[in-house]
Amino acid sequence: MNLTVIDHPLARHYLTVLRDERTPPEEFRNAARRLTYALVMEATSRLPLRKTTIPTPLEETTGYELGDVVAVAVLRAVLGMLDAVLDLYPDVKVGFAGVQRDESTAQPMEYYAKMPKMEQASVLILEPMLATGGSLSWAVGKAKDSGAQDITALCVVTAPDGVTRMYEDHPDVRIVAAAHDRALSDKYYIVPGLGDMGDRLFGTL
Ligand code: URA
Repeated sequence: MNLTVIDHPLARHYLTVLRDERTPPEEFRNAARRLTYALVMEATSRLPLRKTTIPTPLEETTGYELGDVVAVAVLRAVLGMLDAVLDLYPDVKVGFAGVQRDESTAQPMEYYAKMPKMEQASVLILEPMLATGGSLSWAVGKAKDSGAQDITALCVVTAPDGVTRMYEDHPDVRIVAAAHDRALSDKYYIVPGLGDMGDRLFGTL
Protein backbone atom coordinates (compact mmCIF):
# COMPACT_ATOMS: atom_id res chain seq x y z
CA MET A 1 0.00 0.00 0.00
CA ASN A 2 1.09 3.54 -0.74
CA LEU A 3 0.55 4.79 2.82
CA THR A 4 3.10 6.59 5.02
CA VAL A 5 2.08 7.19 8.63
CA ILE A 6 4.26 9.89 10.12
CA ASP A 7 5.97 9.01 13.36
CA HIS A 8 6.87 12.19 15.23
CA PRO A 9 6.20 13.14 18.86
CA LEU A 10 4.63 16.46 17.86
CA ALA A 11 2.30 14.74 15.41
CA ARG A 12 1.23 12.27 18.11
CA HIS A 13 0.67 15.10 20.55
CA TYR A 14 -1.50 17.18 18.22
CA LEU A 15 -3.40 14.11 17.05
CA THR A 16 -4.19 13.32 20.69
CA VAL A 17 -5.57 16.85 21.13
CA LEU A 18 -7.75 16.35 18.04
CA ARG A 19 -9.04 12.95 19.16
CA ASP A 20 -10.02 14.15 22.64
CA GLU A 21 -13.72 15.03 22.59
CA ARG A 22 -13.12 17.63 25.33
CA THR A 23 -11.00 19.81 23.02
CA PRO A 24 -12.91 23.03 22.19
CA PRO A 25 -13.05 24.36 18.59
CA GLU A 26 -10.32 27.02 18.93
CA GLU A 27 -7.83 24.54 20.37
CA PHE A 28 -8.95 21.97 17.79
CA ARG A 29 -8.26 24.41 14.93
CA ASN A 30 -4.79 25.19 16.33
CA ALA A 31 -3.94 21.50 16.69
CA ALA A 32 -5.17 20.74 13.16
CA ARG A 33 -3.00 23.52 11.72
CA ARG A 34 0.06 22.45 13.68
CA LEU A 35 -0.34 18.79 12.78
CA THR A 36 -0.66 19.78 9.13
CA TYR A 37 2.84 21.31 9.20
CA ALA A 38 4.21 17.86 10.00
CA LEU A 39 2.11 16.23 7.25
CA VAL A 40 3.27 18.77 4.68
CA MET A 41 6.93 18.35 5.63
CA GLU A 42 6.70 14.60 5.07
CA ALA A 43 4.55 14.85 1.94
CA THR A 44 6.93 17.29 0.27
CA SER A 45 10.18 15.71 1.36
CA ARG A 46 10.88 14.63 -2.25
CA LEU A 47 9.76 17.84 -3.93
CA PRO A 48 11.88 18.61 -7.00
CA LEU A 49 14.18 21.64 -6.65
CA ARG A 50 15.85 23.90 -9.23
CA LYS A 51 19.50 24.69 -8.54
CA THR A 52 20.44 28.36 -8.54
CA THR A 53 23.40 30.50 -7.57
CA ILE A 54 22.94 33.19 -4.93
CA PRO A 55 25.28 35.69 -3.24
CA THR A 56 25.74 35.38 0.51
CA PRO A 57 27.38 38.41 2.17
CA LEU A 58 30.70 36.49 1.81
CA GLU A 59 30.63 34.68 -1.55
CA GLU A 60 28.41 33.01 -4.11
CA THR A 61 26.90 29.70 -3.18
CA THR A 62 24.39 27.19 -4.47
CA GLY A 63 20.75 27.74 -3.59
CA TYR A 64 17.55 25.89 -4.41
CA GLU A 65 14.19 27.06 -5.70
CA LEU A 66 10.96 25.20 -5.20
CA GLY A 67 9.05 23.87 -8.19
CA ASP A 68 5.34 24.49 -8.63
CA VAL A 69 3.02 23.22 -5.93
CA VAL A 70 -0.74 22.92 -6.28
CA ALA A 71 -3.05 22.01 -3.41
CA VAL A 72 -6.53 20.62 -3.88
CA ALA A 73 -8.73 21.23 -0.86
CA VAL A 74 -11.62 18.84 -0.32
CA LEU A 75 -14.24 20.93 1.52
CA ARG A 76 -15.18 21.44 4.37
CA ALA A 77 -12.92 19.89 7.05
CA VAL A 78 -9.88 20.82 4.95
CA LEU A 79 -10.27 24.41 6.15
CA GLY A 80 -8.43 23.22 9.26
CA MET A 81 -5.40 22.27 7.13
CA LEU A 82 -5.24 25.02 4.55
CA ASP A 83 -3.51 27.78 6.55
CA ALA A 84 -0.48 25.58 7.23
CA VAL A 85 -0.10 24.79 3.51
CA LEU A 86 -0.45 28.47 2.55
CA ASP A 87 2.08 29.40 5.22
CA LEU A 88 4.72 26.91 4.04
CA TYR A 89 4.06 27.41 0.31
CA PRO A 90 2.90 31.01 -0.15
CA ASP A 91 2.95 30.64 -3.97
CA VAL A 92 0.76 27.54 -3.91
CA LYS A 93 -2.25 27.52 -6.23
CA VAL A 94 -5.31 26.05 -4.55
CA GLY A 95 -8.12 24.14 -6.24
CA PHE A 96 -11.35 23.38 -4.40
CA ALA A 97 -13.40 20.24 -4.53
CA GLY A 98 -16.79 20.55 -2.87
CA VAL A 99 -18.18 17.19 -2.03
CA GLN A 100 -20.72 16.26 0.58
CA ARG A 101 -21.32 12.73 1.56
CA ASP A 102 -24.79 11.25 1.67
CA GLU A 103 -25.03 10.33 5.36
CA SER A 104 -26.94 7.10 4.67
CA THR A 105 -24.79 5.68 1.87
CA ALA A 106 -21.52 7.63 2.39
CA GLN A 107 -21.51 8.23 -1.38
CA PRO A 108 -19.87 11.52 -2.43
CA MET A 109 -22.20 14.18 -3.90
CA GLU A 110 -20.30 16.83 -5.84
CA TYR A 111 -21.47 20.42 -5.49
CA TYR A 112 -18.42 22.46 -6.55
CA ALA A 113 -15.13 22.00 -8.37
CA LYS A 114 -12.59 24.62 -9.42
CA MET A 115 -9.13 23.40 -10.36
CA PRO A 116 -6.05 25.31 -11.52
CA LYS A 117 -3.82 23.86 -14.26
CA MET A 118 -1.44 21.40 -12.68
CA GLU A 119 0.45 19.49 -15.42
CA GLN A 120 3.96 20.30 -14.13
CA ALA A 121 3.17 20.74 -10.44
CA SER A 122 3.58 18.61 -7.37
CA VAL A 123 -0.04 18.19 -6.32
CA LEU A 124 -1.12 17.86 -2.69
CA ILE A 125 -4.69 16.71 -2.18
CA LEU A 126 -5.90 17.66 1.28
CA GLU A 127 -8.57 15.31 2.62
CA PRO A 128 -8.33 15.13 6.43
CA MET A 129 -10.54 12.10 7.06
CA LEU A 130 -10.04 9.22 4.62
CA ALA A 131 -13.05 7.07 5.55
CA THR A 132 -14.61 5.19 2.60
CA GLY A 133 -12.31 6.92 0.12
CA GLY A 134 -15.17 8.07 -2.14
CA SER A 135 -14.48 11.81 -1.80
CA LEU A 136 -10.73 11.51 -2.15
CA SER A 137 -10.99 9.20 -5.15
CA TRP A 138 -13.39 11.66 -6.82
CA ALA A 139 -11.11 14.65 -6.03
CA VAL A 140 -8.06 12.82 -7.40
CA GLY A 141 -10.05 12.11 -10.59
CA LYS A 142 -10.82 15.84 -10.91
CA ALA A 143 -7.15 16.70 -10.37
CA LYS A 144 -6.07 14.17 -13.00
CA ASP A 145 -8.62 15.67 -15.45
CA SER A 146 -6.74 18.97 -14.91
CA GLY A 147 -3.41 17.34 -15.71
CA ALA A 148 -2.13 16.26 -12.29
CA GLN A 149 0.51 13.53 -12.49
CA ASP A 150 2.53 13.72 -9.30
CA ILE A 151 -0.07 13.42 -6.53
CA THR A 152 0.23 13.02 -2.77
CA ALA A 153 -2.82 12.91 -0.52
CA LEU A 154 -2.51 14.38 2.99
CA CYS A 155 -4.84 12.93 5.61
CA VAL A 156 -5.11 13.40 9.34
CA VAL A 157 -6.62 9.93 9.86
CA THR A 158 -7.16 7.08 7.41
CA ALA A 159 -9.32 3.96 7.65
CA PRO A 160 -8.60 0.60 5.99
CA ASP A 161 -11.57 0.92 3.58
CA GLY A 162 -10.39 4.29 2.30
CA VAL A 163 -6.80 3.21 1.81
CA THR A 164 -7.93 0.07 -0.05
CA ARG A 165 -10.32 2.08 -2.25
CA MET A 166 -7.52 4.51 -3.11
CA TYR A 167 -5.16 1.68 -3.94
CA GLU A 168 -7.77 0.18 -6.27
CA ASP A 169 -8.79 3.46 -7.96
CA HIS A 170 -5.49 5.38 -7.94
CA PRO A 171 -2.51 3.15 -7.12
CA ASP A 172 -0.13 5.92 -8.25
CA VAL A 173 -1.20 8.26 -5.41
CA ARG A 174 0.91 8.34 -2.28
CA ILE A 175 -0.95 8.89 1.01
CA VAL A 176 0.64 10.60 4.02
CA ALA A 177 -1.32 10.43 7.27
CA ALA A 178 -0.91 11.06 11.00
CA ALA A 179 -2.75 7.82 11.91
CA HIS A 180 -4.21 4.72 10.31
CA ASP A 181 -7.20 3.71 12.40
CA ARG A 182 -8.99 0.42 12.97
CA ALA A 183 -12.28 0.55 11.08
CA LEU A 184 -15.44 2.45 10.10
CA SER A 185 -18.55 2.67 12.25
CA ASP A 186 -21.98 1.72 10.87
CA LYS A 187 -22.40 5.46 10.06
CA TYR A 188 -19.08 5.48 8.17
CA TYR A 189 -17.14 7.42 10.79
CA ILE A 190 -13.55 6.42 11.42
CA VAL A 191 -13.02 4.63 14.75
CA PRO A 192 -11.46 5.54 17.05
CA GLY A 193 -11.06 8.64 14.82
CA LEU A 194 -11.93 12.09 16.09
CA GLY A 195 -15.58 12.48 15.14
CA ASP A 196 -16.85 14.80 12.42
CA MET A 197 -13.87 17.01 11.74
CA GLY A 198 -15.86 19.84 10.12
CA ASP A 199 -18.22 20.00 13.09
CA ARG A 200 -15.36 19.93 15.58
CA LEU A 201 -13.50 22.72 13.75
CA PHE A 202 -16.49 25.03 13.58
CA GLY A 203 -18.57 24.08 16.61
CA THR A 204 -21.53 22.76 14.61
CA LEU A 205 -21.97 19.62 16.67
N1 URA B 1 -15.42 12.60 8.03
C1 URA B 1 -15.19 13.01 9.30
O1 URA B 1 -15.16 14.20 9.58
N2 URA B 1 -14.97 12.06 10.24
C2 URA B 1 -14.97 10.74 9.96
O2 URA B 1 -14.76 9.94 10.87
C3 URA B 1 -15.21 10.34 8.64
C4 URA B 1 -15.43 11.28 7.69
